[in-house]
Amino acid sequence: AWGLDERYRFENFVLGKSNELAFAAAKQVANSPGTVYNPLLLYGSTGLGKTHLLHAAGRFIAEANPNAQVMYLHAEKFVSEMIQALRRDSIDAFKRRYRSVDTLLLDDIQFFAGKDRSQEEFFHTFNALLESRQQIILTCDRYPKEVDGIEARLRSRFGWGLTVSIEPPDFETRVAILQKKAAERELELSDDVTFLIARRMRSNVRDLEGALNSLIANARFSGRTIDVEYTQEILRDVLAVHDRLITIENIQKVVADYYQMRVADLLSRRRSRSIARPRQMAMYLAKELTEHSLPEIGNAFGGRDHTTVLHACRKIESLCESDGRLREEHARLTRELTS
Ligand code: ADP
Ligand code: MG
Repeated sequence: AWGLDERYRFENFVLGKSNELAFAAAKQVANSPGTVYNPLLLYGSTGLGKTHLLHAAGRFIAEANPNAQVMYLHAEKFVSEMIQALRRDSIDAFKRRYRSVDTLLLDDIQFFAGKDRSQEEFFHTFNALLESRQQIILTCDRYPKEVDGIEARLRSRFGWGLTVSIEPPDFETRVAILQKKAAERELELSDDVTFLIARRMRSNVRDLEGALNSLIANARFSGRTIDVEYTQEILRDVLAVHDRLITIENIQKVVADYYQMRVADLLSRRRSRSIARPRQMAMYLAKELTEHSLPEIGNAFGGRDHTTVLHACRKIESLCESDGRLREEHARLTRELTS
């Protein structure tokens, strides 16, 4: 195996609603590479565990099949190695190398955007691997159809197997991740402290981990106990940044932009579906992503009643279950607001 990082395994990946599909798909593929989904493509914004799952799948495959040639590679590296090969006139060796692996794990394919020659080369590698049923797992930082500058034929091929999104972790998952990471450091965090961090840091696992690391490092250095007061002191700036990003006002702006309407329409009394639905989405996001109460949210949406907000939340929640397009809109807005 090449390029695999020992630290990333299935066993230390914390599961939650936001990542269980991606996890299950990666596990399934790792169990029978080349046969179930090919390629498997995991997408989601930064810090949500894509690279972790990629390595975990590779590790699993390598351990189950000691002879398997498993290769992890960042798309950037693929590009730079190809350029070098071209320069040294060794492109054939380059091709052979990538086409001889049993499993290719290629990270952050959005990096191919606008790099035509690399796409061309990858297209052929990709086809050769698929034809001989070698497994390919890819990651991308957004829905691949949305990456500008990637050729249509390549984009369509990315979707031939299974494409799964990985979402920002919900509160329970954030708590579980913090507890697990603290335990790995042989530290027990009080619920107060865990909840404080999990409530305020909503965007991604990397930031969550970063906050915890800096808290632990500071506490060890100063000999202080990690309680709520100390946590607030150490993480003050980090938490402030997070709070600033996710305000009701900003949610309204982002939602209005997304649906190409004005914030004033969201706050207005108009009830046509084309306005009411985005308004409900914005209310739902405000409930999900901020600490504000229903009455406060209602108030911020042109002085509406809290029952209106409650109704909006239930509506969007049920639509997210039945309507794939709305679910994707919700996922995209969440990503935009939290990353
Ligand atoms: P991405 O590739 O999506 O940007 P990474 O895989 O690099 O994100 O994850 C960022 C950090 O968060 C890594 O240290 C990773 O181990 C950790 N991480 C992400 N998701 C989880 C999870 N569900 N359980 C445990 N650790 C996680
Ligand atoms: Mg990554």
